[in-house]
Amino acid sequence: MKNLKLPLTIDPYRSAQRRLEYNGYFELIGLARLLAISEKASEQVNVKMNFDVDEQGLIVISGNASTQVSLTCQRCNEPYELELNVTFIYSPVKNEEGAEHLPSEYDAVELDENGEVNLRDLMEDELILEIPLIPKHDLKDCSATADSTWGKLPEVVEKPNPFDMLKQLK
Ligand SMILES: [Zn+2]
Repeated sequence: MKNLKLPLTIDPYRSAQRRLEYNGYFELIGLARLLAISEKASEQVNVKMNFDVDEQGLIVISGNASTQVSLTCQRCNEPYELELNVTFIYSPVKNEEGAEHLPSEYDAVELDENGEVNLRDLMEDELILEIPLIPKHDLKDCSATADSTWGKLPEVVEKPNPFDMLKQLK
């Protein structure tokens, strides 16, 4: 299957009826909230996504997404790369009430006013949740521990919390 640039939004009902399978990508440059945290602009978010109908007649959107981000280690202040991998199972709902009736193995995703799902926002939300609150190298890779004569970790430096920045963007 070809690696396609994915559509930003999709009609999940039509896609599920056709049992569509996507194997594609979003350009990271379009994911402003994720980029506010990561320094990198040239990479892609790779996404595999299946649309199906389960035995109860519910639409199911399942798959995984991965990308690499460049974060600043909060221990040594050096940049480091982190691979983000998320898996998901969604079922689209029209409103909150619909979400309450979903089986617990599904996450609800609300349809927009056109009856579509914003795939890019959805994937961006998933990936942002994967980023640690305090990004740090593994101990063995962190220069702070190698150079440190203090015998303990330096205090976390005061940097803007990426999640505060996110709130401002919303
Ligand atoms: Zn470090």
